[in-house]
Amino acid sequence: MDLNLQELNQTEFPVPAELENNIAITSLSQLYNWGRRNSMWPMLFGLACCAIEMIATAASRFDFSRFGFEVMRATPRQADLMIVSGTVTKKMVVPIVRLYNQMPEPKYVLAMGACASGGGPFKEGYNVVSGMDKYLPVDVYVPGCPPTPQALLYGMIALQRKIDGQSIANGDDVPWYGVSSAEPTPVPVLGPDIIDPRQMDMIRRQAEAAAGDISSLGIRDLPAATQMVAARVAADATAVADATPVSEDALSFVLPSGGAPWAEAEDIREKRRLRALARKALRASRRATVAEEE
Ligand code: SF4
Repeated sequence: MDLNLQELNQTEFPVPAELENNIAITSLSQLYNWGRRNSMWPMLFGLACCAIEMIATAASRFDFSRFGFEVMRATPRQADLMIVSGTVTKKMVVPIVRLYNQMPEPKYVLAMGACASGGGPFKEGYNVVSGMDKYLPVDVYVPGCPPTPQALLYGMIALQRKIDGQSIANGDDVPWYGVSSAEPTPVPVLGPDIIDPRQMDMIRRQAEAAAGDISSLGIRDLPAATQMVAARVAADATAVADATPVSEDALSFVLPSGGAPWAEAEDIREKRRLRALARKALRASRRATVAEEE
């Protein structure tokens, strides 16, 4: 990337025109932000269909290296931008937060697409979390399903603008510039969907105890609507069982032509088979004629 010192100059301290390419008068925050915003390294991982668009953004046609995003890193230790590209399932949210905790500071999160931003088409699904911002501090949201590479580039540039506005003098604005180290983000435990392996012994003991005394199992009451449906199904089953059995005579059915339905069906099948054989023979004779002419 070309070094453009004019980007760094603060306008309240004018630099003579002949020195603009050699001297910059700026603040430490601006210099620091300028270095960071032009060398963001995203982490190499994708979750679902949005990841394909992210890959396209990195490839030669769109090439986010032009904006300083450079190479994607395959380890969180070398990355400072996490692009959450795709559907975040309850199973995946745990490793995602763990990876985020392994990234060095300063670090940023970009939620790419409807799924990462709010659950998308799978919102309220049994296995999908309704937005990555419930677990990580998201800096930029990119809407779309999936967002185009242009939209992702726009989101990345928005992140650069956000970095431009940060200051190392303000610990509240940017927590990692504060005096103490930041606390790791808690890794989520998502109820019965995810079992903590450290509790396996206890869970096994409880399951054995419950299997030994089935009456001690806590069974939830069904919701009212489900109870009504269950009652209707039970009533239908009783009505079917109580119905008068159908006699053999009632089952015999004669078509207007005088034959039984299955006899009629066999007749139709036979006619179709003969027609197919005739078509096959016709095609064979045409092929033979063409071959003779050649
Ligand atoms: S937002 Fe759309 S394209 Fe992206 S992961 Fe979800 S379903 Fe796939």
